[in-house]
Parts: sequence; structure tokens; C-alpha cells
Amino acid sequence: MIKLDSKGLFIIISGPSGVGKGTICQSLIANNPQIKLSVSATTREKRKGEINGVNYYFLTKEAFEKDIAKGEFLEYAIVHNNEYYGTPKSFVLSELQNGHDIILEIDINGALQIKKQFPNALFIFIMPPTIEELKSRLLKRGTESKEKLVDRFKNAYKEINEIDKYNYVVVNDDLNHAIKKVQAIIDAEKCKVSRIEELDLNTVEEEIHEIIVELKK
Ligand code: 5GP
Repeated sequence: MIKLDSKGLFIIISGPSGVGKGTICQSLIANNPQIKLSVSATTREKRKGEINGVNYYFLTKEAFEKDIAKGEFLEYAIVHNNEYYGTPKSFVLSELQNGHDIILEIDINGALQIKKQFPNALFIFIMPPTIEELKSRLLKRGTESKEKLVDRFKNAYKEINEIDKYNYVVVNDDLNHAIKKVQAIIDAEKCKVSRIEELDLNTVEEEIHEIIVELKK
């Protein structure tokens, strides 16, 4: 009687570095087999423990620029001053077409490019409870030099300043609460009336008519 949009939900998650986006996304994927995470390409250095093709596709600047020229990216941006980050196009488009939901964990510039192409995508911003807390999380992570941390804080300001471009904001003050909220947002989004592809009103009317006739007997 009611058929929902068979295309996947396109979910964009942004937020300052160190806010916990990665952990939230990993949990969503673990709990929702239909959600796939898009692996981005980047020119930044590989961190200890990161695996090519799992965390990122690590490319040289030349290779990245070649892929830009070939139109291989759905969006790309220079993040943290001087490194390219981009979303490979073919994986995302084919997964959405196959009915899978896709998560992109990208910066505001990338999110705005996606919004132009996919105005109906779901844009979620993850906020730290305080800037002090963000600082202590980033220092605890210990993956960046002081110089790189400065870039990350400058970027954090730019990102928070554009929060009105997103549909939802979730404060990550408690990881489990934040995960539950993002999951609830996704679940609600899937129930939107605008995702109905087919609603056979004639059948509904006929069935109701038959019931009324029966009740009146
Ligand atoms: P990190 O270097 O800490 O892994 O990531 C830095 C930031 O780059 C992340 O916070 C994320 O917002 C952004 N980022 C990661 N992948 C992409 C991408 O494919 N496109 C864009 N525009 N930004 C990305």
C-alpha cells in the first residue's frame, strides 16, 4: 500500500576535529548494516595505525589533482590550510542507487558542495560541549603537533560559524547519548512523508468503503 523511496539516505556529518565524529560514525555502521561509510581520499600524512583504503585513500598531491581533473570526486576541499580531502564519486552514487545509506564525514566546504547537488541530504553537525573539552580531547589524542593543532582550532571556529547550514546539531557531551540522538535523527528522517514513493490512495479508499458497508449491515 505504501512504498518508501528505495534510494538510500545521504547523511553528512561535520564538526570540529576531535569532537568524536569518527567514533559516532563507526558505531552507526556497526549497528546499521545498511549504512556504508564513504572512505575519503586525502593528501595528508598517514598517522600511525592508519590503513590505506580503510581510514583514507592516501594520495600524493599529483595523484589527487589528476583525480580532480578526471572528475572522480563528488566534492573536495583543502582542509587545515594545505591538504586535499575528497569524496570519491562512484562508490557513493552506486551505493545510494542500491538503496544503501551513505555517511560522509567531511568539512563544511565539502558539505556545502554536497548540499548544492543533493539538497535533500541529511546534514548533522556534532558540537563539543565546550571548547575547553575539545582542547583536552585533542591533546589527549596526541596525533597533531602544536602547529597543526592551531590549524585545527582555526578551522573549528570556521565550522561552528556555519552551523546554520546544517539540519541538526548534536552535542557530544556523552558518547552514548550522542550516538542515540544521531540514530534517532536518521530513523526520523527515514519516516518523512517526502520519502514516500508510492501511496495507493484508491486501494485505501476501496478498503475503507468495504469496511463501512460491512459495518452498516
Ligand atoms: P583528519 O585529518 O583529522 O582525519 O580530518 C580532518 C578533517 O577533514 C575532518 O574533520 C573532516 O571534516 C575533513 N574531511 C575528511 N574527509 C573529507 C572529505 O572527503 N572531504 C572534505 N571536504 N573534508 C573531509
